[in-house]
Amino acid sequence: MASINAREEDVKIADVKEGEEVVFKNVTCTHNHTRWNEYAEWGITTVWSYHEAIAWWITSSFWMPNTKPPITSSRLVDDFFEQGKDLPIRTYMHFWARDDNMQECDQALAHPRVVSLKVYPAWKDDSGEAKNVTTSFAGHKAEVFDHSPEPGHTLDQLAQLCIKYNKPMIIHCETPNMGYTPVAENHYLDHTVLPLCRRLPELKFVVAHTTLLSTAQKVLASNRDHGTNIYMELTPHHLWFTVDQIKEEDQNLLECYPRLRAEEDRAGLLDLFTQIGTDSAIKLMHGTDHAPHTKEAKIKGSRGVPNFRDTLPMILTLASKTQMTTSQLQLFFRWMTEECYSFLSEVEKDDMYTTMQKTSYIPPAEYYEWVVRNPMGWVELDWKVVV
Ligand SMILES: [Zn+2]
Repeated sequence: MASINAREEDVKIADVKEGEEVVFKNVTCTHNHTRWNEYAEWGITTVWSYHEAIAWWITSSFWMPNTKPPITSSRLVDDFFEQGKDLPIRTYMHFWARDDNMQECDQALAHPRVVSLKVYPAWKDDSGEAKNVTTSFAGHKAEVFDHSPEPGHTLDQLAQLCIKYNKPMIIHCETPNMGYTPVAENHYLDHTVLPLCRRLPELKFVVAHTTLLSTAQKVLASNRDHGTNIYMELTPHHLWFTVDQIKEEDQNLLECYPRLRAEEDRAGLLDLFTQIGTDSAIKLMHGTDHAPHTKEAKIKGSRGVPNFRDTLPMILTLASKTQMTTSQLQLFFRWMTEECYSFLSEVEKDDMYTTMQKTSYIPPAEYYEWVVRNPMGWVELDWKVVV
């Protein structure tokens, strides 16, 4: 069967023939949630998450640290990497920063598989209770409350550590007392991210799961006009679904943070995605924001989208429709990530491969036994992963 090597050849995805295969090297997912095995709820464990990522044919997975308990101590890092360490996937970790764990952050960043410092913005409500943008971990003091971009504040100190190790800072960009709204994302960008990055242009910064066209436009303008170094993660679900498409009975299945957005945002981000590689200011990475939940938990309202065993078919199908090329996807899956997390190529010596085949694809029935069904259906997918 004819196969196309996405590194050496540049072919339009739409021109690949039925039955032909495309080979990608080192497909990374920069944003993947997991839990400690012993704290797993609903039977979902870290090893389960590894298996899901392997099933999607992700070769390198960056774990988000909002496990229970959260990984805010450098002593926990090696313990975490012990879990599932013999499985065929490379694993890295974003380390959870808070207002008072600078020394832990410093030590954690020295670890070759700790890729960044991750900030979850938080606030205290009128009763003094801490609220996080996603989940609150009572008793773990796991949040950053200080959102000032000015020198001497938490984010400045964390940024200095990131610069010292040449690793990025990644933030779930929403001002937490504004809920999960476009206003919250815009506000955090305007008042925290852009001022911080403009003051420290040597800082590599990642906007986790970018969902708004306005965010992308501001980041691009800043990279172009102010020399900032801001990368953006794109999730398959924000490129595929919109809030208007969700049927009421499927509401809980697609409940996630940040929430699904309007068609204008989806279409605008997809259009930006098609421009990857044409302008060095466009820095986009594949971050699925996969969240491990069972169907039972999702139906009851657990937050996060866990159905991305088919993330790669979705991306390839979108790329087919928009005239993107294999080399653009390889930028998205690998090279942008290696540019942002520049140490990666020093850590790993060998390539791993993911093969995708052009063919109409409907997942097998047993798929729905353990993952959330896709409310939009799969009939449009015309790519599958070759196992
Ligand atoms: Zn996330």
